[in-house]
Parts: sequence; C-alpha cells; structure tokens
Amino acid sequence: MNRRLRCYDCGETFEVDERKRCVCGEPLWFDVDTAGFEWPDEDWTAGMWRYVDVLPVSEPIGPTPGTTPLVRAEELEEYAGCRLSLKPEGQNPTGSFKDRGTAVGVSYAAATGYDWIGTVSHGNMALSTSAYAASAGLEAAVFVPADTPPERLELIARHDPRIFRVEGDYGQLYADTLALEHGSDLDVTFVNSDTPLRVAGQKTVGYEILEEFEPDVPDAIVLPVSSGGHASGIWKAVRELEDAGLLEETPRLYFVQAGPCDPIATAYREGRDEVTPIDPGETIAVSIANSDPPSGTRTLRAARETGGAVVSVPDEATREAMDRLATTAGLSVEPSSAVALAGVRQLSESSKLAPDDDVVTVLTGSGYKERYDVDVDSRARTIDLADLEDELAAAVDG
Ligand SMILES: *Cc1c(COP(=O)(O)O)cnc(C)c1O
Ligand SMILES: [Zn+2]
Repeated sequence: MNRRLRCYDCGETFEVDERKRCVCGEPLWFDVDTAGFEWPDEDWTAGMWRYVDVLPVSEPIGPTPGTTPLVRAEELEEYAGCRLSLKPEGQNPTGSFKDRGTAVGVSYAAATGYDWIGTVSHGNMALSTSAYAASAGLEAAVFVPADTPPERLELIARHDPRIFRVEGDYGQLYADTLALEHGSDLDVTFVNSDTPLRVAGQKTVGYEILEEFEPDVPDAIVLPVSSGGHASGIWKAVRELEDAGLLEETPRLYFVQAGPCDPIATAYREGRDEVTPIDPGETIAVSIANSDPPSGTRTLRAARETGGAVVSVPDEATREAMDRLATTAGLSVEPSSAVALAGVRQLSESSKLAPDDDVVTVLTGSGYKERYDVDVDSRARTIDLADLEDELAAAVDG
C-alpha cells in the first residue's frame, strides 16, 4: 500500500512518521488508491484483516478484531422510526471498536521497531492499547484523566501498562503527546483517537457494513462521536469504496453527541465550518465527552458532504435507548453507544430519517464493563427454595 499521508482538507501529502497533523492544522490520514479494489475472497474468520490490501500493515499481531455481525432489529423499528440494523462493536476482543485501530497501530509499531506505544484515553482505548501491546510484547504508556473511575482503571491495569492519571486539560494533553513524539527522541509512538493508523483500522467498520449490504447501500449510517476518529474512518471507507466503483450511491452519515458535551453538533447547528472547544457539562456518556475534539472539523465535513447531520441528545433519551436495547434486542451497551440509537429516534422524529430508510447504527462499546444505576429490586424477586414451583408457576401463568 502507498505509505503517504494526506490532508483531507488542503490535499498536502507527507511521509509516514513525519507528522500526524498537516501544516494547515487538520488531521492527516493514509493516502490509499482503491481503484481496482474488489471485495475480498477471504472468509469472515480473517476478521478485519480481510481488508489487509488497503491497510498500512501486512503482519497482523494480537487478537483478531472485526467481522462483528450486522443485526436486523425489527423489534426496535417502531421505536427507531426506520428500518434498523445494528452493528454491535462490543463483540470485539476488548469490547469496543477501538480494537480495530489499535490492532493496526500496534502491528505497525512492532514492525517498525518501536518498543513503546502510547495513547490518551477516557478508558476504552487505554484498555484496548494495553491489551494489544501486551500481545505484541510492547510496553504501553496510557494517559487517562485523573478522575477516570477505579473500575475502568482496574480493567486496564490487568494488562500491566504504565498508567498515568493526568491532572489538567484533556485537549492539551492530547496535543502535547503528539507534539512530544516528534519533538523528542523518545522511543514511543502514539496512537491517539484520530491518528492516521487508528483511522485506518477504524475504517474497516465501514467496509464491513457496506460489504454486507452490497449490492444495495444503506441510506444512512449513524454513530456516536467524540474525537471524530471513528467518524473519519467511516467517511474514509465510503470515499475509498466510491473510488473503487463499488457503491451505486453513498450513505448519509449522521453523528450523535451527548447534549451536555456537544461541540461538533453545536458548530453544525450554528452553520460554522470549524469546531471550537466548548465548556462541557456532566454526562453519563463518559466515553464521548470530548469538549475539544481533534477531528471535529473533519467530522463536520463528513456530515455535510454526505448529506447527513450532527445532532445531540439529552441523557434521558440515552438512558431510554440503552434500556430498549437491553430489554428488546438483548444487547447491553454503554451509554456512549446508546447515544446513537437515541439519535436515530430523534432524526426520525424530525423527518431526517424516513420510515423506509435502511439505517445502520454502530453500537460502539459493550455494556458489560462497569456498573450502572439499574434498579435491580424492581426486576428481581427473593424467594424461598421451598416455593420454587409456586413462584415459577405464578410468573409463567402471570
Ligand atoms: C471512543 C468511543 C467513541 C467515540 O469515538 P471517537 O473516535 O473518539 O469519536 C464512542 N463510543 C465508545 C464506546 C468509545 O469507546
Ligand atoms: Zn492541510
């Protein structure tokens, strides 16, 4: 594969490892020529590596991410207001789509001879990076906000990375780590949320969705957004497959944020071309609470160029969507994922999505990682063993 990096905005190109940001300030991604690309013959057990021809690594390392199922969710269609399919990315090895970008980043770092890999994260990416670094025999340095909950740190610590709990501004931390990589001689490469290697891995979510639909194309893809790395990956997949001549039409891309922390949706609403930092409020969607998103402007562009939008939803709507997914589809997701389904409902209510639109919602992360305030007493009953049959009969005959 061509190993140059390109700016989506001004078109400038750079050598790999030279930099992660363009001279214009916007994030870079890998330049991939997909003319002549065809859907691979490999079976689905190859996971996301079935697309190795369009990835910047050739020797995959670590547990295989990808080829998560695409599930038609007819039971949720009335709630969603459209023809709904779900892509449960919680089924990846460490429970989120982050594994796709991490697998590319770690494989690249190992092949290039780095001993250390670093990342900045609210939790899922630190977990994913620590696990994959362990599998590749690399050291991991993970920087998390000082207030990261202990149960998240405990999951990460199992893989024995160096964990740094950082006091200070998260956006600044993100920028400083990337600057450090190029401004020092340290033997460490960073795969932060929207760096080129990570976006390369995360585009495979888009490849899988579009391959499963072919020869049709979904009308819309909806996902939660924080840094904009995942959104950039999906947009890149659409562009690359369009260049390959494999799409009759292109899906509209809709991105959803949590109301209390929605800098990209705010810029979209206000008709601005650039995303600027906001002063955030508290939200239950902690994995997507980035008030200064490094790929915010790129995400805004992805929404506008595909005919989509960026919206935000209140936490009550997120809670309701999370509950619907768990009780109707049997899928436990974290609030940051449920945000996307709450967004679908809102987009349907405002007629941006039509009842006969085929809509794919990416459920970004598993709900089995931490505690939520679910009311167990209203859903559990304590019984005496001697009453087993009577209690079951009462429930069954209800
Ligand atoms: C990281 C993450 C997101 C947001 O992805 P970005 O690439 O930062 O926009 C959404 N959901 C979950 C569960 C995540 O871990
Ligand atoms: Zn540029």
